Amino acid sequence: MAGKRCIILPLRSKRGRWAALGALLLAICALIWLFRPRQTTPPPPSEALTAAAKELTDYDVTLKLIPERRQVSITERVAFINDTGDTLTSLLLRTWLNAFQSEEDSPAATEELYDACYPQGFSEGKLTLHDVAWNGTQTAWRYDDDAQTALRVDIPPLAAGQTGELLLRCVVQIPLCAHRSGGLGDTYQLGNVIPQLSLYQDHAWRADPYTSVGDPFVSSCANYTFSVYLPEGYVPACSAPLTRGQDGAWRGSILAARDVALCLSPDYCQASARAAGGAAVYAYAKTEAGARRVAEDAKRAIDVFSGLFGPYPYPALTVCAVDFPFGGMEYSGLVMIGQSNFLDSQQDTMELTVAHETAHQWFYSLVGSDQVYAPWQDEALCQYAMLRYVRARYGQGSFDTLKYYQVDSPMAENIPGSLTPGSPIDYFGDLTAYSSVVYGRGAALLLALDEMLPGGADAFLRAYAEAFAYRFATRQDFEAFLNNYAGMDCSPLLLDYLDTAH
Ligand SMILES: [Zn+2]
Repeated sequence: MAGKRCIILPLRSKRGRWAALGALLLAICALIWLFRPRQTTPPPPSEALTAAAKELTDYDVTLKLIPERRQVSITERVAFINDTGDTLTSLLLRTWLNAFQSEEDSPAATEELYDACYPQGFSEGKLTLHDVAWNGTQTAWRYDDDAQTALRVDIPPLAAGQTGELLLRCVVQIPLCAHRSGGLGDTYQLGNVIPQLSLYQDHAWRADPYTSVGDPFVSSCANYTFSVYLPEGYVPACSAPLTRGQDGAWRGSILAARDVALCLSPDYCQASARAAGGAAVYAYAKTEAGARRVAEDAKRAIDVFSGLFGPYPYPALTVCAVDFPFGGMEYSGLVMIGQSNFLDSQQDTMELTVAHETAHQWFYSLVGSDQVYAPWQDEALCQYAMLRYVRARYGQGSFDTLKYYQVDSPMAENIPGSLTPGSPIDYFGDLTAYSSVVYGRGAALLLALDEMLPGGADAFLRAYAEAFAYRFATRQDFEAFLNNYAGMDCSPLLLDYLDTAH
């Protein structure tokens, strides 16, 4: 500080003074701009992600929300690469929202979930197709199933390695339903709403039904680019970090995503954080305090898991609050967290839920697995990861206590029937048994591996995540990789933990 003299004093003329004042204001503006609070921008995609994205199918998705009708119009261009190894004459896309058309098919209309999901009574959700074209020409399509969730599109024979463009135009009706696809009030959760190619496996497209228990979704990774048009005041949370352009549209992209989702709300407050490796965390909740809390929880989970299982797979993670009776739901680059977690009394539950869902970015998104026939392969791994998170953050005592409730108790429970962690999801009639068996008892396998393997289960999972990054690992793949890693036949151990009713 140089006394009371300011820099305009030496100037004598009035004009000079005004010029100097202007220069001073400019300098101040420049300083304010230079030291402005930075928006947490995502880092560029990693080399591994960029390399993985190279040979993948590209989706270009334009969405427009029409809240007065609870509708979203979707235009989707899919630059399809036939990497199936077969000549194809049809594509199969999942139109999961159609399952919400009737109480008979809706995964939210079971006795266990109905009242929580439909507090205002049943509300229809559906997808109406307007255009289906292949390489610019309208083409025939039909649904393979009564629930209309498996859309088969005919194409001229497409040899392995060839490409073509599929265009879909549709309008989706968002149900008043507290579920992955739906929402109550002004918040729209668009999970499994954008039509997406199914998984091609053993020379056929998978067409699994939408079960109420579990996440019956299987898919390959693909690249997604979004253009999202929203009424003024709405805030989008998306698998891809979005920025608003001059024309008001929100745009962004995500590479090598297994599945994508968006949540749209005029009530969202936003917070952000920077996690290990530079990943940006964006959080959206009904209060600023809630958004800040969930951002910090997600950041800490990424910090712990990237240390244990390898780098976080994407440049950003979005975490958003939604109305549904579940703890959370995972998509690539996005995690939905149930509104009840945001109650002050539920802080511990929130932290555990966020840890479990964030772990899915490694075990589900980075390494895809069969969520229909081997749900343990992502759920049990994420439950184990959650326990590891607790040990890293709170120590061995907290780990032991949580292990008692989450693993030891389910192991001692009397489970009806012959359900085992290795059972497919349609064996389970309710969420309680599913959670005890697949999450709890399934995690016991990882704890057993932790004792058996030199370097423990964490080093094994890190190697597994690296070996199958952005690919799909079947149970056989997991087993073969484990046997090779351990240098011994671990099949009896897997049989005991996954396929034997205790
Ligand atoms: Zn899970």
